[in-house]
Order: sequence, then structure tokens, then C-alpha cells
Amino acid sequence: MTRYCTKCGAQNDEMAQYCVGCQAPLPSIGGYQPMQSVNQGPMTDWKAMGADKKIAAGLCGILLGWAGVHKFILGYTTEGVIQLVIGLVTCGAGGIIGLIEGIIYLTKSDEEFVRTYIQNKKGWF
Ligand SMILES: [Zn+2]
Repeated sequence: MTRYCTKCGAQNDEMAQYCVGCQAPLPSIGGYQPMQSVNQGPMTDWKAMGADKKIAAGLCGILLGWAGVHKFILGYTTEGVIQLVIGLVTCGAGGIIGLIEGIIYLTKSDEEFVRTYIQNKKGWF
């Protein structure tokens, strides 16, 4: 049994995965290609888009919210500084803002989190 390369016409062994003539990947027997999942729509990798910061930002908001740590994690430098000043001025009572924000972060889905805080840059709550 031999198969012919669709690109250069070279004869290839039945089990060959790549053409001996042009190195092009050969179609699998019967045209079945397990690596190609055509029917699956494009999956959005929310984690890669910033949702991986959700847990860290949420926990920091709850534990270190008064210092604005969660805002720095999300890249909100201005808001982080403001939060830090509020926290210092209020002797930590301003941390209630971070606490609430941290809980909000953790209750959001990865998609909501990315859309709200990474894409829309929502600085507060
Ligand atoms: Zn070939």
C-alpha cells in the first residue's frame, strides 16, 4: 500500500506522516484528522486574557485591600495609589472598599472579569 502526496505526487509509505519528497504533512488514512476540530467554535482563552489574575486580585482585595494591592495587580496604578492613601488616612478602614471589590472579583466569571476589569478598565467596584 502506498499513498501519493497531494502536493508533489511523491510515493509515500502507508504509515508515513510526512511526505518523503516535500516534507508536507500527509492526510491520515481515510481523511480522518483527529487534530482538527472544525466543528468547535473559536474558544476564548479568558485565563490568558487576564482572568488568571482574578483569584490573586480578589484575595489581595480582601486581605490587603486597604493598600490597594489588588488594583496594582490589575494594572490600575492611579486607583491603587488612591486606595493606599485612603487606607492610610482612615487607618485601614478604607480597606472595606478593597474587601468589597475583592468579593466582587471572586464572584465574577472569568469572562465577566476580563470584560469588566481588563477590557473596560473599570477602576472601582
Ligand atoms: Zn510531497
